[in-house]
Amino acid sequence: MSVSGDLPDLYIGGAWVHSSDGGKRELINPADGSVVAVVDEATSDDATRAVAAARATFDEGSWPATPVSERAALLTRIADLLVRDKELLARIETDDTGKTLVESRIDIDDVVSVFRYYAELIAVSSDRLVDVGDPTVISRVVREPIGVCVLIAPWNYPLLQISWKIAPALAAGCTMVAKPSEVTPLSTIAFVRLAEEAGVPPGVLNLVQGSGAVLGAALTDTDDVDLISFTGGLATGRRIAEIAARRVTKAAVELGGKNPHIVFADAEWESSVDQVLTGVFLHSGQVCSSGTRLIVEESIADDFVAELAKRAAKIKFGNGLDPASETGPLVSEQHREKVEAYVALGISEGAKLVVGGERPTDPTFATGSFYPPTIFDRCDRTMRIVTEETFGPILTVERFTTEEEAIMLGNDTEYGLAAGVRTSDAARGERVVRALRHGTVWLNDFGYYTAAAEWGGFKKSGNGRELGPAGLAEYQEMKHIWHNTAPKPAGWFKGD
Ligand code: NAD
Repeated sequence: MSVSGDLPDLYIGGAWVHSSDGGKRELINPADGSVVAVVDEATSDDATRAVAAARATFDEGSWPATPVSERAALLTRIADLLVRDKELLARIETDDTGKTLVESRIDIDDVVSVFRYYAELIAVSSDRLVDVGDPTVISRVVREPIGVCVLIAPWNYPLLQISWKIAPALAAGCTMVAKPSEVTPLSTIAFVRLAEEAGVPPGVLNLVQGSGAVLGAALTDTDDVDLISFTGGLATGRRIAEIAARRVTKAAVELGGKNPHIVFADAEWESSVDQVLTGVFLHSGQVCSSGTRLIVEESIADDFVAELAKRAAKIKFGNGLDPASETGPLVSEQHREKVEAYVALGISEGAKLVVGGERPTDPTFATGSFYPPTIFDRCDRTMRIVTEETFGPILTVERFTTEEEAIMLGNDTEYGLAAGVRTSDAARGERVVRALRHGTVWLNDFGYYTAAAEWGGFKKSGNGRELGPAGLAEYQEMKHIWHNTAPKPAGWFKGD
């Protein structure tokens, strides 16, 4: 299935164009190895032109000063078109990422809700009057668009992640260059066509796709950009933050996680087993907030792990288009090799493999990058498999005996994106939730979020916030305007 056929895939200054050197990239469906589409691969020059288009549109165009009601209406039109094209977009996402169609549909619903949320939020003025103690002075703090934004997204939730950036950036009145992952750009290309149809003015939303290594400098190492919003891995985020620091460009980086899911012995059994499994094996573990570290109370650990292993072995993975599939393949062969290397590492580190750990041998899976749910028991903090983000269907199990130990283990990670706590003791639940240093903490639940609540990480999981009011504030500058309606001399220098 091709999203764009022979149409150009780069969108610069309101025009669809091919790559300036004719470069193309084949996109592979990870479920069967087929070619999903061939898209334009941008050059560094294309990226420079896209930034220049966004800069000129911000500096010379009318978009930043467009009334908020018009911007809100545009976001609403985009949301309506997303609803209209939901099935097409979901299908594109499944072909490109491998995730099940059910998951892709949920992703598109979430994208719709983000556009609707920011359409509502921007319509409420956030200007603030400040009393300076002088009735002749009108002092107010107003919010203005930050300027040109570069929006860089990963491959695991392609349209979802980039929409968490595009929606607030548009709402704020910014201009932007969107750069989806080169592995999964198709839904973003389709989205930009849809945004054009909704009436996004030329030059406001520009699109380039291609290798981050090739486009990175043109997109980030330039004073023409006012904000870099990046979601991806720690190593890339660090590189971008270093460049941004040198240029004194604002950078919001949303990075990885190594998320604990803490289960006390008094936790409700059925929902705990079910949600520990869902929390780690949904989307084959390719989720930044995946609950990849089970931290379970010693007294129930043997039974709990045995039950998890029994159910993990029954999880049906397969082509995301098959309604029987409960989870899809890994995003690429290269990524499967990375996950396999982590499994080999876990074994060599002495962790006890209880289920999974080998590529499926069934010929049905021969052409796809499938990997089964894998559980390692008897893990500890000295193992890299416990400390590093594997980004695959791998659950490690650590055990605790006291509440203090559970908290210590839950915080014993350089990351701080998300965590889960399960107990039927509400007071203990609240204590542990407050003691954990993670950006989202679920108590007796796992994985849920809403457009209205901030998302982001403590520690090395990042330094910005997406969604919620703070997710809009990232794209705004605050300006203090001091207006003296009855000017008089300051009287400091006497002049005699
Ligand atoms: P990645 O860091 O390899 O790539 C992310 C994006 O950065 C891609 O578009 C890539 O092309 C681009 N890029 C690569 N090098 C670049 C450079 N030098 N300059 C500019 N851009 C560059 O990450 P990935 O493998 O695509 O995604 C997986 C990672 O994303 C995981 O670590 C996951 O935890 C993280 N993630 C975090 C969140 C969150 O909300 N915190 C959400 C989803 C994914």
